[in-house]
Amino acid sequence: MHPAARAPQKRAYRSSLCGDITSSTPENVAEPRSEIPQNGQAPNLRATLEAYFHREVQSLSDPKLEIIPLGGLGEFGMNILALRCGEDILVIDAGMMFPGAELLGVDIVVPDISYLIENRQRVRALLLTHGHEDHIGAAPFLLSQLDVPVYGTAFTLALAQRRLQEHDLPREPRLERVRARESIQIGCFSVEFIHVTHSIVDALALAITTPLGVVIHTGDFKIDPTPTDNELFDLHTLAEYGKRGVLLLLSDSTNAETPGFTPSERAVRGRLAEVFHRASQALVISCFSSSIHRIQQIVDLAEEYGRKIAIVGRSMTAAAEIAHGLGFLRLPDGMLVRAGELQQIPRSERTVLIAGSQGEPMSSLSRASVNQHKHVSIEAGDTVALSSRIIPGNEKGIFRMIDHLCRRGAEVVYSATSPGIHVSGHASQEELTLMLNLVRPRYFVPIHGEYRQLSRHAQLGEQFRQAGRHDTFVMESGEVLEIDARGARKIGRVPVGRVCIDSGSIDEVVQDVIIHDRRSLSEDGLVLTVIALNPRTGQLESQPEIVTRGFVTSEDGADIVARARQIVVQTLENSTDEEKTDYGVIKAKISADLKRFIRKETSRRPLILPVILEV
Ligand SMILES: [Zn+2]
Ligand SMILES: [Zn+2]
Repeated sequence: MHPAARAPQKRAYRSSLCGDITSSTPENVAEPRSEIPQNGQAPNLRATLEAYFHREVQSLSDPKLEIIPLGGLGEFGMNILALRCGEDILVIDAGMMFPGAELLGVDIVVPDISYLIENRQRVRALLLTHGHEDHIGAAPFLLSQLDVPVYGTAFTLALAQRRLQEHDLPREPRLERVRARESIQIGCFSVEFIHVTHSIVDALALAITTPLGVVIHTGDFKIDPTPTDNELFDLHTLAEYGKRGVLLLLSDSTNAETPGFTPSERAVRGRLAEVFHRASQALVISCFSSSIHRIQQIVDLAEEYGRKIAIVGRSMTAAAEIAHGLGFLRLPDGMLVRAGELQQIPRSERTVLIAGSQGEPMSSLSRASVNQHKHVSIEAGDTVALSSRIIPGNEKGIFRMIDHLCRRGAEVVYSATSPGIHVSGHASQEELTLMLNLVRPRYFVPIHGEYRQLSRHAQLGEQFRQAGRHDTFVMESGEVLEIDARGARKIGRVPVGRVCIDSGSIDEVVQDVIIHDRRSLSEDGLVLTVIALNPRTGQLESQPEIVTRGFVTSEDGADIVARARQIVVQTLENSTDEEKTDYGVIKAKISADLKRFIRKETSRRPLILPVILEV
């Protein structure tokens, strides 16, 4: 890690109201007592003050619960929330966010956890509700700085472990496997794990018993009455908690704007079956790699239609292997083929399950769409189905990829043209209302969503005012909600923010969001390459320019620049015309090649910015 990355964040702001109980212990508060007149001249005043201090001391020793969302409220992704009671802090989820276009050159974004670091001796555990990246992706970053045990189900931990293995952590992570219906005691918290239905297997809600009452954290969920794995949502346990009385509900707001019920995962099967029925040639299907339910349905249909299946792409292969190993994915004998064997199978018997549904420039499907995949070819008459939603921000990349696929003559089935090809994993309004009704919390805080979704979810909670709900708080990341015997209130803020990470490596942490703030700029400099291309032919119109700032100061600098220019020329020569007219793809290729070259030659990691000029 860059030393400066540990420095306090510039944009951080703090309120004196929030946080540190130790600074106001009863001992400290009791001190002024000695200043009260002792001569008996003001007995009433003295009695009043004594009573006042007694009450204050009493209230300070009363248990207090703080709810501190550090990410994921008022923003999409990067879910992380801290619960604090006295000297104990529980962290629920540690997610990442994929950077949008404005964060050029950054690979992932994780939450600023300086609040947890400041309170490191109080942090007891990290609980993971499920294995989606927006809930586990920042776990390596958190564990590189905090030595705490991680609790989660088998599948969640397996995915988290895969992420953790990619990093050089200071110590072996302590992964504690839990099952639904189990309870554990962590500090003053007692946590029961409750099975929920979601677009990933082995997902949990948490019922956390605190000295002040029960907190229910739903994790991500939808209420799927007919889940494909027949693992039912444990509504009974939630209802039992509701009956006994729940202090606070923290509930998933992702789909709070969607009326009605989210269809069951099973609903996709009909639409997918149609795709299989109509496909006469190769069938290439992409979905989120962690959607094991979806993958199972695709495998089942492939079997039914007498097709072989190849699983292509690193994330997809890894998720399928993990799920298969844990018994979450059934793969009939003899059906699975390696990508390298695809060529030997007639096109009409091929199913390819492929990573890259979000149009990521270097993903397997993107490469196949420009005919650059080693094993997967897409030809006229083939069918490509994107069984996933378009994550906001990815539209451009996805539609560009669909354009390429259409140019190749493939029939492309995706959510905009065929809505039934994907169903959401998040609860719509009717299910959210049902959750509120089952749990009947005294306080309600919508979580996981942009502000409009949180506030819509809060409105849904209004009708339960008669049913004992006292208050709803629409909170944003960094705000602190305090609950004690007297009530609940927002009491201030803790620092929050985003930390950008390059190449998924925690030693390349770049502080803050804005590109010109990147640490690598000041430490390793910037390499800008300007490439003049003819937009029609994709031909290089002149030698690529290389401009560096804060990089290469030694005498062989000119030599490095000349060779870097050659690398760019080579990358272009090794790319097809189709790739060269797709700026997303060509920029990603140039960046990757230049990064590798410069790291090898200089051991430095400058920020690399390819700029394409159309001439
Ligand atoms: Zn999520
Ligand atoms: Zn999720």
